Amino acid sequence: MSGPVAVNDLPSPTTPVDEVETSCVEITEDREAMVGHMKVRRALPRRGRRTVGAWCFADHMGPAEVTEESGLDIGPHPHIGLQTVTWLIDGQVLHRDSLGSEQVIRPGQLNLMTAGHGVAHSEEATGQYRGKLQGIQLWIAQPEGTRHGAAAFEHHVDLPQIATPGADVTVLVGSFTADATSPARHDTALVGVDVVFHGGASNLPLRNDFEYALVVLAGGLTVDQRNVTPGHLAYLGRGRDELGLHAEGATRALLIGGEPFDEPLVMWWNFVARSRDEMAKAYDDWQNETSRFSYFPSPIVRILAPSPYWLRAGS
Ligand code: MN
Repeated sequence: MSGPVAVNDLPSPTTPVDEVETSCVEITEDREAMVGHMKVRRALPRRGRRTVGAWCFADHMGPAEVTEESGLDIGPHPHIGLQTVTWLIDGQVLHRDSLGSEQVIRPGQLNLMTAGHGVAHSEEATGQYRGKLQGIQLWIAQPEGTRHGAAAFEHHVDLPQIATPGADVTVLVGSFTADATSPARHDTALVGVDVVFHGGASNLPLRNDFEYALVVLAGGLTVDQRNVTPGHLAYLGRGRDELGLHAEGATRALLIGGEPFDEPLVMWWNFVARSRDEMAKAYDDWQNETSRFSYFPSPIVRILAPSPYWLRAGS
């Protein structure tokens, strides 16, 4: 449930992208990718839509059957300049990182890892869980003010939950209403909520200075006469005070939003930075096992980075 971000996730230089729209419904199709042994549907980044607020990556993973000894099986790999948000619908995953964290995550719990200048982690089978595994991992780009800072890891088991007419909302990050704020750290103004729709009409409060998008995990939603189903990102623009929705039976979705992120991002592999030189330095530090990404023990083999495509001969 982590990268890598590949060249074909990103816009071509000739494609105008990331316009902040007013109150639209812009639907992009996810790209299927393999992460570890799991099939994922990548909703962000996509050609034409790289960010929603500071949200810059979203992989809907599974559902798939896992065993006690084999599941995600993502060996140690590095990150810089981003936070990873891990949220499970079914199953369990063991998180280990270079800060010494060792944490099993279950549905309803949030793992939030801040990479800053550099961190490494793995995502492993738990040794005890067998059954269905499904979840979503998102990345949040860190702003200039924090992206060179220290790494950190948080695990939250007690997140705000709100029952609204037609939907139950869990607040992962940020504030959904004045009295529903997640305890999770955030470095920019943003929000991320899990919404379980009962079927039929519902209405969610929004901030009109945030841009938003929906990722439907199961079921289907209608927004402004447009149907949104799993495998797509529905970008909603900004300027809305509320969002009227119609759910086709039991439906589950993630609503992400935030102030438009105006720092120029460069994304490659598991890194979020501002220049190719920064990427190349992070690549060297990982390949050469410098102290930037501290060692930690894992039963899974360490993942080596592909060589940066812009440094390859002939490119
Ligand atoms: Mn990762």
